[in-house]
Amino acid sequence: MEQGEDTFENVQIPAAPGDIDFVLLTHAHIDHSGLLPLLFAGGFKGEIHSTTATANLCSVMLRDSAHIQEFEAEWRNRKAQRRGEDNYEPLYTMDDAIGAIELFVPHEYETPVDVAEGIQIYFCDAGHLLGSSSIIIKLTENGETRTVVFSGDIGNKNQPLIREPNYIESADYVIMESTYGNRVHERPTDYVIALTSVLQTTFDRGGSVIIPSFAVGRTQEMLYFLRQIKHDNLVSGHDGFPVYVDSPLANEATDIFMNNRESCYDEEALSFVRRGINPISFEGLIRTVSSDDSRAINDDPRPKVIISASGMCEAGRIKHHLKHNLWKPENTVLFVGYQASNTLGRSIVEGAKKVKLFGETVKVAAEIKVLPGVSGHADVNGLTEWAKAITGVKKYFINHGEATSAESFANRLREEFGFEAYAPYSGAEFDILTGEITIDAAPKPIPKKEHQSNISVCYSDLLSASNRLAQLIKLSDGRANADMRKLTEAINKLCDEWEI
Ligand SMILES: [Zn+2]
Ligand SMILES: [Zn+2]
Repeated sequence: MEQGEDTFENVQIPAAPGDIDFVLLTHAHIDHSGLLPLLFAGGFKGEIHSTTATANLCSVMLRDSAHIQEFEAEWRNRKAQRRGEDNYEPLYTMDDAIGAIELFVPHEYETPVDVAEGIQIYFCDAGHLLGSSSIIIKLTENGETRTVVFSGDIGNKNQPLIREPNYIESADYVIMESTYGNRVHERPTDYVIALTSVLQTTFDRGGSVIIPSFAVGRTQEMLYFLRQIKHDNLVSGHDGFPVYVDSPLANEATDIFMNNRESCYDEEALSFVRRGINPISFEGLIRTVSSDDSRAINDDPRPKVIISASGMCEAGRIKHHLKHNLWKPENTVLFVGYQASNTLGRSIVEGAKKVKLFGETVKVAAEIKVLPGVSGHADVNGLTEWAKAITGVKKYFINHGEATSAESFANRLREEFGFEAYAPYSGAEFDILTGEITIDAAPKPIPKKEHQSNISVCYSDLLSASNRLAQLIKLSDGRANADMRKLTEAINKLCDEWEI
């Protein structure tokens, strides 16, 4: 499921969903798993192979995704009906999501599975998200065997809770991601110190810290750091401060982390578990489920932490918390993840003075802070190390990154290490047995028409607003002086705010 804008056309999978025998899934992130319900809706009834933690996470994430699809369709339909337009169909329904969830076949890491005659696979920890994996596929035909590795997303080192990415010994062909194929991560900040300072300053002025967070992964990292801060008494004068996690999805995901601790946690997290400590829980942690519980948080007068989704403030309960807290100068809104353009989160980070929430204008008086999380993705150095560790590779195929990032990483592997590396576009074909590229697809850019027409609609709205303003000024001749002064002031203020 594409997140953000797609620049090139994707070729259809050359088989009807009903003819596909099985799917191999590396991890639960929605850009990898999000269209499985659509595949099910199209007639796919085969098996979906993944690790156990991935299957568990998909069970909550795909239902959440279907809920969002249905909710959006409902909202659009209400608008469409008023305009007398056709009904809008959701991409898929809750039934499709449940259908897909029932097809999952969970597996342990490092355990070979025969998924079909001549096709053996196993999952290797990719250190990217709980349950994430690279998949090693052994293909045998007429006595000849080739090993293909599909990297999935490769994790960053030193992430809390989960293990480091595992290196793979050998393969004939490697298909690997390149999200950070041309970028190096900055040195990570000491999260515990940085977070402590935000809590201390905010609590001391009687405010609360609101954290818009991604439900799966980032929320559990925050809990890990908060447990340590509480355990080491790093915040002074506010003993037992409450931490609310107000997101049903986040709370379900937190349980899945705990249930998969033995197969997925790193040594540090496991050492807590062995001492009887849950590394993502602590006294003062309150997990809210019902919407009444959620509303009750506003009645708690103590300085507190509220973690809620969605991470970019586009949906979910975080919007209610922003409405209640954004206008109070004693509070802090702390952003801990990437904010895509055109999201509410991005506009707050970029200094919006007022925002719209549930049709109401809310002023931004709270302190706005950004603490970028530990990235889940390896940077170009991490990717290079991962690629280099595999021996006997005849060719690397670089995918899952912007075109420039994929090209740049393929170049690096070619020029620095003399590897055969190729960044194919959608539709390219390669013969694994002969080692030949049989179709070298060219990129097909998606015309930007729809986007541009959107801009011109907005611009024409703006022009008609300007006509209305001109009309208002014209008709103001003869008004009371005080009123004219007030209007002049308002217009000047508006211009001051918007002039670059
Ligand atoms: Zn991912
Ligand atoms: Zn991804």
